[in-house]
Amino acid sequence: MSDAIEIELSGVTRSFREGNSEHVVLDNVDAQFRRGEIVALRGRSGSGKSTLLNLVGGIDTPDIGKVVVAGVDLAGLTEHARTLFRRKHIGFVYQAFNLVPTLNVADNIRLVLELNGVSRGEADRRIAELLEAVVLADRADSYPDVLSGGEQQRVAIARALSHRPSVLLADEPTGNLDEKTAESVIALLDELIRGTGGTMIMATHSTTIASTCDRTFELHDGNIVEA
Ligand code: ADP
Ligand code: MG
Repeated sequence: MSDAIEIELSGVTRSFREGNSEHVVLDNVDAQFRRGEIVALRGRSGSGKSTLLNLVGGIDTPDIGKVVVAGVDLAGLTEHARTLFRRKHIGFVYQAFNLVPTLNVADNIRLVLELNGVSRGEADRRIAELLEAVVLADRADSYPDVLSGGEQQRVAIARALSHRPSVLLADEPTGNLDEKTAESVIALLDELIRGTGGTMIMATHSTTIASTCDRTFELHDGNIVEA
């Protein structure tokens, strides 16, 4: 891990309208995450974990405040430029694996590489290498519905890393997995991210998983504190 700041939130406020009132989910939040660190994001359901990840990933924008990722101020980008930024720099892993059911394992990964303009030959090389890394080399031709939950999440991890993002955002990645599978998926994710030197923020309810991370932050009442 270096001391360089990879992700910085300054005075970030995000609220959502609820009937006639405003629900302030993030209230003037300041946070910094360093390049190469693995951070756990905790907090009860509805505390704003997904909201924060979506702001860092440029899926959403703050009402007030600044989000800088890999040196880029996301608020300064048009929506199109933010999409391109996300495609290039960010990887997402979700609780619901979100694989495309009509594509086999290899093509689920290929899709992301094609969007990033990676050539066919290079894509084939990367897919083989990634499937090796997530121990699914023999499942390249399988469709998602024949894979177990843990296997599907490993494909999703391979896909999320395929374009070599500097930031990986994992939103309760083990929420649909049993405890043992969850632990092995997290160990794999940890190993792969550390291998790339990338930064990961992982929303999780699990104290066991949080304990494997470099730092833990907790969201509560719109504020973030290091736990
Ligand atoms: P967490 O991931 O910690 O469970 P979320 O970030 O998903 O929490 O949600 C935080 C709060 O913001 C919740 O009360 C949720 O209902 C609200 N919220 C999130 N996204 C939206 C949205 N697009 N529209 C309205 N309310 C939202
Ligand atoms: Mg959430």
